Amino acid sequence: MTRTSMRLTAVGLAALALVAALSFQPSHAQAPAGDGIVALTGARVIDGTGRAPIEQGTIVINGNGRIQAVGPANSVQVPRGATRVDLAGKTIMPGLINAHAHVQYFKELADPVRDQLVRRLRMYAEYGVTANVSLGSTEADELEGLKLRDEQSRGPLDRARVYTGGLNAVGKTPDEARKSVDRLADLKVDVIKFHINGTPNDMTTDTWSAIIDEAHKKGLRTYVHIFYLKDAQAAVDKGLDVIAHSVRDQDVTPKLIADMKANNVAYIPTLTRDLSVFVYETRPAFFDDPFFQRGISLYRDHVNLVSDPARQEKVRNDKNAQAIKPALQQAMKNLKTLSDAGVTIAMGTDSGVTGAQNLGRWQGYFEHVELEYMVKAGMTPMQTIVAATGGAARATKLDTDLGTIQAGKLADLLVLNANPLTDIKNTRQINSVWIGGRRLGARATR
Ligand SMILES: [Zn+2]
Repeated sequence: MTRTSMRLTAVGLAALALVAALSFQPSHAQAPAGDGIVALTGARVIDGTGRAPIEQGTIVINGNGRIQAVGPANSVQVPRGATRVDLAGKTIMPGLINAHAHVQYFKELADPVRDQLVRRLRMYAEYGVTANVSLGSTEADELEGLKLRDEQSRGPLDRARVYTGGLNAVGKTPDEARKSVDRLADLKVDVIKFHINGTPNDMTTDTWSAIIDEAHKKGLRTYVHIFYLKDAQAAVDKGLDVIAHSVRDQDVTPKLIADMKANNVAYIPTLTRDLSVFVYETRPAFFDDPFFQRGISLYRDHVNLVSDPARQEKVRNDKNAQAIKPALQQAMKNLKTLSDAGVTIAMGTDSGVTGAQNLGRWQGYFEHVELEYMVKAGMTPMQTIVAATGGAARATKLDTDLGTIQAGKLADLLVLNANPLTDIKNTRQINSVWIGGRRLGARATR
Protein backbone atom coordinates (compact mmCIF):
# COMPACT_ATOMS: atom_id res chain seq x y z
CA MET A 1 0.00 0.00 0.00
CA THR A 2 1.37 3.43 -0.83
CA ARG A 3 1.75 6.22 1.65
CA THR A 4 -0.90 8.20 -0.25
CA SER A 5 -3.51 5.48 -0.22
CA MET A 6 -2.94 4.94 3.50
CA ARG A 7 -3.72 8.55 4.15
CA LEU A 8 -6.93 8.64 2.18
CA THR A 9 -9.25 7.89 5.03
CA ALA A 10 -12.45 9.90 5.32
CA VAL A 11 -10.91 12.16 7.94
CA GLY A 12 -7.80 12.47 5.83
CA LEU A 13 -9.83 13.47 2.79
CA ALA A 14 -11.65 16.16 4.72
CA ALA A 15 -8.36 17.49 6.05
CA LEU A 16 -6.86 17.43 2.58
CA ALA A 17 -9.79 19.35 1.15
CA LEU A 18 -9.46 21.95 3.89
CA VAL A 19 -5.73 22.31 3.32
CA ALA A 20 -6.29 22.58 -0.44
CA ALA A 21 -8.92 25.28 0.08
CA LEU A 22 -6.77 27.22 2.50
CA SER A 23 -3.65 27.08 0.38
CA PHE A 24 -5.39 27.78 -2.91
CA GLN A 25 -7.61 30.69 -1.98
CA PRO A 26 -5.02 33.21 -0.77
CA SER A 27 -2.92 32.90 -3.93
CA HIS A 28 -6.10 33.21 -5.99
CA ALA A 29 -7.14 36.32 -4.11
CA GLN A 30 -3.75 37.94 -4.40
CA ALA A 31 -3.34 37.11 -8.06
CA PRO A 32 -6.37 38.07 -10.13
CA ALA A 33 -6.13 37.42 -13.86
CA GLY A 34 -3.07 38.99 -15.35
CA ASP A 35 -1.64 40.31 -12.09
CA GLY A 36 1.92 39.05 -12.06
CA ILE A 37 0.92 35.93 -13.93
CA VAL A 38 3.48 34.48 -16.34
CA ALA A 39 2.72 31.89 -19.00
CA LEU A 40 5.55 29.87 -20.48
CA THR A 41 4.37 28.53 -23.83
CA GLY A 42 5.39 26.23 -26.64
CA ALA A 43 8.02 24.15 -24.84
CA ARG A 44 8.45 20.45 -24.20
CA VAL A 45 7.70 19.92 -20.50
CA ILE A 46 9.39 17.13 -18.53
CA ASP A 47 7.46 17.36 -15.29
CA GLY A 48 9.79 15.37 -12.99
CA THR A 49 7.28 12.61 -12.19
CA GLY A 50 8.62 10.23 -14.83
CA ARG A 51 5.60 10.64 -17.06
CA ALA A 52 6.17 11.12 -20.81
CA PRO A 53 6.94 14.74 -21.65
CA ILE A 54 4.24 17.14 -22.80
CA GLU A 55 5.08 18.47 -26.25
CA GLN A 56 3.93 22.07 -26.86
CA GLY A 57 3.18 22.58 -23.20
CA THR A 58 1.97 25.63 -21.32
CA ILE A 59 2.93 26.45 -17.74
CA VAL A 60 0.99 29.19 -15.96
CA ILE A 61 2.77 30.70 -12.94
CA ASN A 62 0.78 32.80 -10.48
CA GLY A 63 1.83 36.05 -8.80
CA ASN A 64 3.19 34.11 -5.82
CA GLY A 65 5.67 32.17 -7.89
CA ARG A 66 3.72 28.94 -7.85
CA ILE A 67 2.53 26.85 -10.74
CA GLN A 68 -1.15 27.45 -11.33
CA ALA A 69 -1.64 25.15 -14.30
CA VAL A 70 0.38 22.94 -16.63
CA GLY A 71 -0.56 20.87 -19.65
CA PRO A 72 -0.71 20.73 -23.44
CA ALA A 73 -1.39 24.17 -24.99
CA ASN A 74 -4.93 23.19 -25.98
CA SER A 75 -5.89 22.22 -22.43
CA VAL A 76 -4.48 25.16 -20.45
CA GLN A 77 -6.10 28.55 -20.60
CA VAL A 78 -3.71 31.48 -20.31
CA PRO A 79 -5.37 34.17 -18.15
CA ARG A 80 -6.03 37.50 -19.87
CA GLY A 81 -3.21 39.97 -19.24
CA ALA A 82 -0.66 37.29 -18.38
CA THR A 83 2.91 37.89 -19.53
CA ARG A 84 3.59 35.32 -22.22
CA VAL A 85 7.08 33.94 -22.68
CA ASP A 86 7.47 32.02 -25.95
CA LEU A 87 9.75 29.03 -25.36
CA ALA A 88 9.10 27.16 -28.61
CA GLY A 89 11.83 24.61 -29.26
CA LYS A 90 12.98 24.60 -25.63
CA THR A 91 12.60 21.94 -22.95
CA ILE A 92 11.43 22.85 -19.45
CA MET A 93 12.20 20.59 -16.52
CA PRO A 94 12.12 21.19 -12.76
CA GLY A 95 15.21 22.84 -11.31
CA LEU A 96 17.77 20.30 -10.11
CA ILE A 97 17.68 19.30 -6.45
CA ASN A 98 20.99 18.30 -4.90
CA ALA A 99 20.04 15.98 -2.05
CA HIS A 100 23.61 15.76 -0.74
CA ALA A 101 25.25 19.17 -0.92
CA HIS A 102 27.29 21.22 1.48
CA VAL A 103 27.07 24.97 1.74
CA GLN A 104 30.11 25.67 3.86
CA TYR A 105 32.45 28.54 4.54
CA PHE A 106 35.97 28.16 3.18
CA LYS A 107 38.12 29.99 5.73
CA GLU A 108 40.99 30.46 3.28
CA LEU A 109 38.77 32.84 1.31
CA ALA A 110 38.48 36.22 2.98
CA ASP A 111 34.87 37.22 2.31
CA PRO A 112 32.34 37.36 5.16
CA VAL A 113 30.50 34.09 5.86
CA ARG A 114 27.14 35.23 4.60
CA ASP A 115 28.53 36.72 1.37
CA GLN A 116 30.38 33.54 0.61
CA LEU A 117 27.42 31.25 1.25
CA VAL A 118 25.24 33.44 -0.96
CA ARG A 119 27.91 33.38 -3.67
CA ARG A 120 27.94 29.57 -3.53
CA LEU A 121 24.15 29.34 -3.65
CA ARG A 122 24.14 31.74 -6.59
CA MET A 123 26.58 29.52 -8.45
CA TYR A 124 24.39 26.49 -7.86
CA ALA A 125 21.44 28.47 -9.21
CA GLU A 126 23.28 29.61 -12.32
CA TYR A 127 23.92 25.97 -13.11
CA GLY A 128 20.23 25.16 -12.69
CA VAL A 129 20.61 23.56 -9.24
CA THR A 130 17.75 25.41 -7.59
CA ALA A 131 17.66 23.58 -4.23
CA ASN A 132 20.32 22.00 -2.04
CA VAL A 133 20.16 19.91 1.08
CA SER A 134 23.34 20.63 3.01
CA LEU A 135 24.31 17.48 4.88
CA GLY A 136 26.74 19.08 7.23
CA SER A 137 27.81 22.58 8.17
CA THR A 138 30.96 23.80 9.85
CA GLU A 139 30.84 25.78 13.08
CA ALA A 140 31.62 28.92 11.10
CA ASP A 141 28.54 28.65 8.86
CA GLU A 142 25.95 26.60 10.75
CA LEU A 143 23.80 29.52 11.90
CA GLU A 144 24.14 31.54 8.70
CA GLY A 145 22.95 28.53 6.69
CA LEU A 146 19.86 28.30 8.85
CA LYS A 147 19.24 32.04 8.46
CA LEU A 148 19.42 31.76 4.68
CA ARG A 149 17.02 28.82 4.85
CA ASP A 150 14.56 30.92 6.86
CA GLU A 151 14.81 33.92 4.55
CA GLN A 152 13.97 32.03 1.39
CA SER A 153 10.29 31.72 2.22
CA ARG A 154 9.96 35.50 2.30
CA GLY A 155 10.35 36.62 -1.26
CA PRO A 156 11.98 36.46 -4.64
CA LEU A 157 15.31 34.65 -4.67
CA ASP A 158 18.36 35.23 -6.81
CA ARG A 159 20.08 32.15 -5.42
CA ALA A 160 19.38 28.48 -4.88
CA ARG A 161 17.31 27.37 -1.93
CA VAL A 162 19.14 25.72 0.93
CA TYR A 163 17.95 23.23 3.53
CA THR A 164 20.41 22.20 6.16
CA GLY A 165 21.30 19.60 8.74
CA GLY A 166 23.60 21.93 10.68
CA LEU A 167 26.59 20.15 12.21
CA ASN A 168 26.64 16.37 11.92
CA ALA A 169 25.17 14.60 14.93
CA VAL A 170 27.80 12.94 17.12
CA GLY A 171 28.35 11.56 20.60
CA LYS A 172 30.67 9.39 22.63
CA THR A 173 27.66 7.82 24.38
CA PRO A 174 24.00 7.36 23.45
CA ASP A 175 23.14 10.15 25.88
CA GLU A 176 25.58 12.56 24.24
CA ALA A 177 24.25 11.56 20.83
CA ARG A 178 20.69 12.38 21.91
CA LYS A 179 21.84 15.76 23.26
CA SER A 180 23.54 16.47 19.95
CA VAL A 181 20.27 15.78 18.11
CA ASP A 182 18.29 17.86 20.63
CA ARG A 183 20.57 20.85 20.05
CA LEU A 184 20.08 20.53 16.28
CA ALA A 185 16.33 20.13 16.65
CA ASP A 186 16.24 23.30 18.79
CA LEU A 187 18.04 25.11 15.96
CA LYS A 188 15.28 23.84 13.64
CA VAL A 189 17.50 21.99 11.20
CA ASP A 190 15.83 20.20 8.29
CA VAL A 191 17.62 16.84 8.56
CA ILE A 192 19.99 14.89 10.80
CA LYS A 193 23.20 13.51 9.30
CA PHE A 194 25.74 11.19 10.91
CA HIS A 195 28.65 8.99 9.90
CA ILE A 196 29.43 5.30 9.99
CA ASN A 197 32.80 5.25 8.29
CA GLY A 198 33.61 1.62 8.95
CA THR A 199 36.70 2.55 10.99
CA PRO A 200 37.62 1.99 14.66
CA ASN A 201 36.78 5.62 15.44
CA ASP A 202 33.10 5.11 14.64
CA MET A 203 30.38 5.64 17.19
CA THR A 204 29.10 2.37 18.66
CA THR A 205 25.88 0.97 17.23
CA ASP A 206 24.08 1.94 20.44
CA THR A 207 25.27 5.51 20.05
CA TRP A 208 24.38 6.07 16.40
CA SER A 209 21.08 4.27 16.75
CA ALA A 210 20.27 6.71 19.56
CA ILE A 211 20.74 9.46 16.93
CA ILE A 212 18.14 7.85 14.68
CA ASP A 213 15.74 7.28 17.57
CA GLU A 214 16.07 10.80 18.97
CA ALA A 215 15.77 12.38 15.50
CA HIS A 216 12.55 10.49 14.86
CA LYS A 217 11.18 11.62 18.21
CA LYS A 218 11.81 15.18 17.02
CA GLY A 219 10.20 14.54 13.65
CA LEU A 220 13.49 14.69 11.75
CA ARG A 221 14.72 12.34 9.05
CA THR A 222 18.15 10.73 9.29
CA TYR A 223 20.88 10.53 6.65
CA VAL A 224 23.99 8.41 7.04
CA HIS A 225 27.41 8.46 5.46
CA ILE A 226 28.51 4.88 4.75
CA PHE A 227 30.97 3.03 2.52
CA TYR A 228 30.40 -0.62 3.44
CA LEU A 229 27.39 -2.82 2.78
CA LYS A 230 27.34 -4.05 6.40
CA ASP A 231 27.03 -0.49 7.70
CA ALA A 232 24.26 0.38 5.23
CA GLN A 233 22.36 -2.74 6.30
CA ALA A 234 22.91 -2.02 10.01
CA ALA A 235 21.61 1.54 9.61
CA VAL A 236 18.55 0.40 7.66
CA ASP A 237 17.92 -2.22 10.37
CA LYS A 238 17.81 0.61 12.93
CA GLY A 239 15.28 2.67 11.00
CA LEU A 240 17.47 5.01 8.94
CA ASP A 241 15.71 7.13 6.28
CA VAL A 242 18.33 7.99 3.64
CA ILE A 243 21.67 6.42 2.65
CA ALA A 244 23.75 9.43 1.61
CA HIS A 245 26.57 7.65 -0.28
CA SER A 246 26.96 4.56 -2.42
CA VAL A 247 27.65 1.10 -1.09
CA ARG A 248 31.12 0.68 -2.55
CA ASP A 249 32.70 -2.51 -1.19
CA GLN A 250 30.49 -5.19 -2.76
CA ASP A 251 27.21 -5.88 -4.51
CA VAL A 252 24.09 -4.81 -2.65
CA THR A 253 22.16 -7.84 -1.41
CA PRO A 254 18.53 -8.79 -2.07
CA LYS A 255 17.99 -8.34 1.69
CA LEU A 256 19.21 -4.74 1.67
CA ILE A 257 17.07 -3.97 -1.37
CA ALA A 258 13.98 -5.56 0.19
CA ASP A 259 14.53 -3.75 3.48
CA MET A 260 15.08 -0.39 1.76
CA LYS A 261 11.88 -0.80 -0.21
CA ALA A 262 9.85 -2.00 2.76
CA ASN A 263 10.99 0.97 4.84
CA ASN A 264 11.02 3.51 2.00
CA VAL A 265 14.73 4.24 2.44
CA ALA A 266 16.15 6.49 -0.28
CA TYR A 267 19.64 6.30 -1.79
CA ILE A 268 21.98 9.10 -2.86
CA PRO A 269 24.83 7.70 -4.97
CA THR A 270 27.22 10.76 -4.90
CA LEU A 271 29.35 9.30 -7.72
CA THR A 272 31.23 12.54 -8.40
CA ARG A 273 32.43 12.58 -4.78
CA ASP A 274 34.35 9.42 -5.60
CA LEU A 275 35.47 10.79 -8.95
CA SER A 276 36.98 13.80 -7.18
CA VAL A 277 39.18 11.56 -5.04
CA PHE A 278 41.33 10.35 -7.95
CA VAL A 279 40.55 12.45 -11.03
CA TYR A 280 43.10 15.14 -10.16
CA GLU A 281 46.00 12.71 -10.53
CA THR A 282 46.37 14.56 -13.84
CA ARG A 283 44.73 17.65 -15.26
CA PRO A 284 41.17 16.63 -16.15
CA ALA A 285 39.95 17.54 -19.65
CA PHE A 286 36.84 19.15 -18.21
CA PHE A 287 38.86 22.11 -16.96
CA ASP A 288 38.70 23.32 -20.59
CA ASP A 289 34.95 22.73 -20.90
CA PRO A 290 33.31 26.14 -21.45
CA PHE A 291 30.45 24.98 -19.22
CA PHE A 292 32.97 24.41 -16.41
CA GLN A 293 34.59 27.75 -17.11
CA ARG A 294 31.28 29.49 -16.41
CA GLY A 295 31.94 28.82 -12.74
CA ILE A 296 35.57 29.83 -12.73
CA SER A 297 35.03 32.86 -10.48
CA LEU A 298 34.17 30.40 -7.71
CA TYR A 299 36.34 27.49 -8.88
CA ARG A 300 39.66 29.24 -9.62
CA ASP A 301 41.39 28.77 -6.25
CA HIS A 302 40.72 25.06 -6.20
CA VAL A 303 41.62 24.62 -9.86
CA ASN A 304 45.02 26.06 -8.99
CA LEU A 305 45.42 23.82 -5.94
CA VAL A 306 44.51 20.56 -7.70
CA SER A 307 46.64 21.51 -10.73
CA ASP A 308 49.79 21.51 -8.58
CA PRO A 309 52.04 18.75 -10.03
CA ALA A 310 53.16 17.73 -6.53
CA ARG A 311 49.55 17.16 -5.46
CA GLN A 312 48.83 15.27 -8.69
CA GLU A 313 51.75 12.96 -8.00
CA LYS A 314 50.58 12.41 -4.44
CA VAL A 315 47.16 11.32 -5.73
CA ARG A 316 48.82 8.94 -8.22
CA ASN A 317 50.82 7.35 -5.39
CA ASP A 318 48.06 7.34 -2.77
CA LYS A 319 46.79 3.80 -2.25
CA ASN A 320 43.49 5.02 -0.77
CA ALA A 321 42.84 7.40 -3.64
CA GLN A 322 43.58 4.70 -6.21
CA ALA A 323 41.31 2.25 -4.35
CA ILE A 324 38.38 4.55 -5.05
CA LYS A 325 38.59 3.75 -8.78
CA PRO A 326 37.17 0.23 -8.37
CA ALA A 327 34.93 1.54 -5.58
CA LEU A 328 33.33 3.95 -8.08
CA GLN A 329 32.76 1.07 -10.50
CA GLN A 330 31.11 -0.87 -7.68
CA ALA A 331 29.01 2.17 -6.82
CA MET A 332 27.80 2.46 -10.41
CA LYS A 333 26.91 -1.23 -10.53
CA ASN A 334 24.95 -0.95 -7.28
CA LEU A 335 23.16 2.17 -8.49
CA LYS A 336 21.86 0.30 -11.53
CA THR A 337 20.74 -2.63 -9.34
CA LEU A 338 18.93 -0.38 -6.85
CA SER A 339 17.33 1.75 -9.54
CA ASP A 340 16.09 -1.33 -11.41
CA ALA A 341 14.68 -2.67 -8.13
CA GLY A 342 12.60 0.47 -7.68
CA VAL A 343 14.44 2.02 -4.73
CA THR A 344 14.00 5.83 -4.59
CA ILE A 345 17.18 7.36 -5.99
CA ALA A 346 18.08 10.99 -5.27
CA MET A 347 20.79 12.94 -7.07
CA GLY A 348 23.50 14.25 -4.78
CA THR A 349 27.15 15.12 -5.15
CA ASP A 350 28.71 15.99 -1.79
CA SER A 351 29.92 19.18 -3.51
CA GLY A 352 30.95 22.20 -1.50
CA VAL A 353 32.59 20.47 1.45
CA THR A 354 35.69 22.11 2.95
CA GLY A 355 39.00 20.44 3.74
CA ALA A 356 42.23 19.93 1.80
CA GLN A 357 41.37 16.30 1.00
CA ASN A 358 38.00 17.33 -0.47
CA LEU A 359 39.14 19.75 -3.16
CA GLY A 360 37.57 19.84 -6.58
CA ARG A 361 33.90 19.17 -5.96
CA TRP A 362 32.52 21.95 -8.10
CA GLN A 363 29.24 23.38 -6.89
CA GLY A 364 27.05 23.63 -9.98
CA TYR A 365 29.20 21.88 -12.55
CA PHE A 366 29.48 18.56 -10.73
CA GLU A 367 25.73 18.14 -10.46
CA HIS A 368 25.66 17.85 -14.26
CA VAL A 369 28.60 15.42 -14.23
CA GLU A 370 26.70 13.42 -11.60
CA LEU A 371 23.76 13.10 -14.01
CA GLU A 372 26.15 11.97 -16.73
CA TYR A 373 27.60 9.26 -14.44
CA MET A 374 24.15 8.08 -13.38
CA VAL A 375 23.36 7.49 -17.05
CA LYS A 376 26.77 5.84 -17.53
CA ALA A 377 25.80 3.54 -14.66
CA GLY A 378 22.81 2.38 -16.69
CA MET A 379 19.91 4.57 -15.58
CA THR A 380 17.87 6.07 -18.41
CA PRO A 381 17.94 9.86 -18.88
CA MET A 382 14.32 9.97 -17.65
CA GLN A 383 15.13 7.96 -14.50
CA THR A 384 18.11 10.23 -13.92
CA ILE A 385 16.05 13.39 -14.34
CA VAL A 386 13.44 12.06 -11.92
CA ALA A 387 16.22 11.27 -9.41
CA ALA A 388 17.38 14.88 -9.67
CA THR A 389 13.89 16.40 -9.38
CA GLY A 390 10.75 14.60 -8.20
CA GLY A 391 12.70 11.69 -6.69
CA ALA A 392 15.10 13.94 -4.83
CA ALA A 393 12.15 15.95 -3.52
CA ARG A 394 10.44 12.80 -2.24
CA ALA A 395 13.66 11.50 -0.67
CA THR A 396 14.16 14.79 1.16
CA LYS A 397 10.45 15.35 1.92
CA LEU A 398 10.51 18.64 0.03
CA ASP A 399 7.89 17.39 -2.40
CA THR A 400 5.08 19.56 -1.06
CA ASP A 401 6.78 22.54 -2.70
CA LEU A 402 9.51 21.26 -4.99
CA GLY A 403 10.59 18.69 -7.53
CA THR A 404 7.82 18.49 -10.09
CA ILE A 405 6.02 20.77 -12.51
CA GLN A 406 2.54 20.41 -11.12
CA ALA A 407 -0.14 22.84 -9.97
CA GLY A 408 0.64 24.16 -6.49
CA LYS A 409 4.41 23.61 -6.64
CA LEU A 410 6.92 26.44 -6.61
CA ALA A 411 7.97 27.40 -10.14
CA ASP A 412 11.64 26.40 -9.86
CA LEU A 413 12.45 25.59 -13.45
CA LEU A 414 15.33 24.80 -15.75
CA VAL A 415 14.79 25.85 -19.37
CA LEU A 416 17.06 24.03 -21.82
CA ASN A 417 17.94 24.64 -25.45
CA ALA A 418 18.10 20.90 -26.16
CA ASN A 419 16.28 17.78 -25.02
CA PRO A 420 18.00 15.95 -22.11
CA LEU A 421 16.00 12.78 -22.83
CA THR A 422 18.03 12.25 -26.00
CA ASP A 423 21.35 13.10 -24.31
CA ILE A 424 21.65 13.79 -20.58
CA LYS A 425 24.48 16.22 -21.30
CA ASN A 426 21.82 18.51 -22.73
CA THR A 427 21.05 19.58 -19.15
CA ARG A 428 24.10 21.81 -19.75
CA GLN A 429 22.36 23.65 -22.60
CA ILE A 430 20.85 26.15 -20.19
CA ASN A 431 18.56 28.80 -21.63
CA SER A 432 17.36 30.18 -18.31
CA VAL A 433 16.75 29.26 -14.69
CA TRP A 434 13.58 30.23 -12.84
CA ILE A 435 13.27 30.29 -9.07
CA GLY A 436 9.89 30.92 -7.49
CA GLY A 437 8.53 31.97 -10.87
CA ARG A 438 11.17 34.60 -11.52
CA ARG A 439 13.86 34.30 -14.13
CA LEU A 440 17.31 34.30 -12.56
CA GLY A 441 19.13 37.47 -13.51
CA ALA A 442 15.90 39.29 -14.33
CA ARG A 443 15.18 42.50 -12.43
CA ALA A 444 12.99 42.12 -9.38
CA THR A 445 9.43 42.93 -10.33
CA ARG A 446 7.75 41.32 -7.39
ZN1 LIG B 1 28.79 15.07 2.51
